[in-house]
Amino acid sequence: MLLSGKTALITGASRGIGRAIALEFARQGCNIAINHYDLDEAAANEVYNEVTSMGREALLFKSDVSSFEQSKLMISETVSKWGRLDILVNNAGITRDALIISMKEEDFDRVMQVNLKGAFNMSKHAAGVMARQRQGRIINISSVVALIGNSGQANYCAAKAGIIGLTKSLARELASRSITVNAIAPGFIETDMTGNLPEDLKLELQKKIPLGRCGQPQDVAGIVCYLASDAGGYITGEVIRVDGGMGM
Ligand code: NAD
Repeated sequence: MLLSGKTALITGASRGIGRAIALEFARQGCNIAINHYDLDEAAANEVYNEVTSMGREALLFKSDVSSFEQSKLMISETVSKWGRLDILVNNAGITRDALIISMKEEDFDRVMQVNLKGAFNMSKHAAGVMARQRQGRIINISSVVALIGNSGQANYCAAKAGIIGLTKSLARELASRSITVNAIAPGFIETDMTGNLPEDLKLELQKKIPLGRCGQPQDVAGIVCYLASDAGGYITGEVIRVDGGMGM
């Protein structure tokens, strides 16, 4: 098992990509703090039950990553329970899509607060813990659209591009403490986030993917697990596309 005895906090782990990462980490022997901010808590409880049924320990936090204080509390409660935090995955994210002419100010602000400030909040509080341990992994979920842009997603692309700057800066700051910081840039992954797109747009997007299919959450979970493991220990400041070739 790649993550035997380690502890991880995964934001946005109630469904989609975060859920797949949580279950893969648990399969690899990791205890998991599961964060989410859903109205419907059943999905998060289901992930909790799946993790514990594999014999791992779990914590469940219904908390908003855009809140500095709630983020701090999640890190401190995780460390209280397990005495350490080996891996942080900043996965929580939202969309509020619109063309710039009709995009509301609050839609720009909320996407920045959750997708970028949330990653800052969590990383800031985790960095102190990991620095004291002289060991840690931070993995940020960006997006391929951070690299190539996307019409109707100026707020989302700006936040996800910000994540890449955050990743590279933290990689430089924290390397001397043996903490690696990397970003994943998924392409079109089938989750609730992309589920509401019109069928014709999905088919159009699929035509732009050289591998000819949409990605699944598990396609992302594998590489996140590798980066979190000892095998990924010499990789830092990297942005890895998981997009079937879409962003080439
Ligand atoms: P999803 O909508 O299925 O799940 C989002 C998760 O984030 C949920 O667990 C939700 O509770 C959580 N969340 C939302 N707001 C939160 C907040 N304020 N605080 C804490 N948790 C919050 O999304 P997904 O498709 O699984 O996406 C996961 C990540 O991957 C996101 O960062 C997304 O931007 C990114 N991504 C997704 C795709 C894709 O095609 N699905 C592509 C590239 C990047």
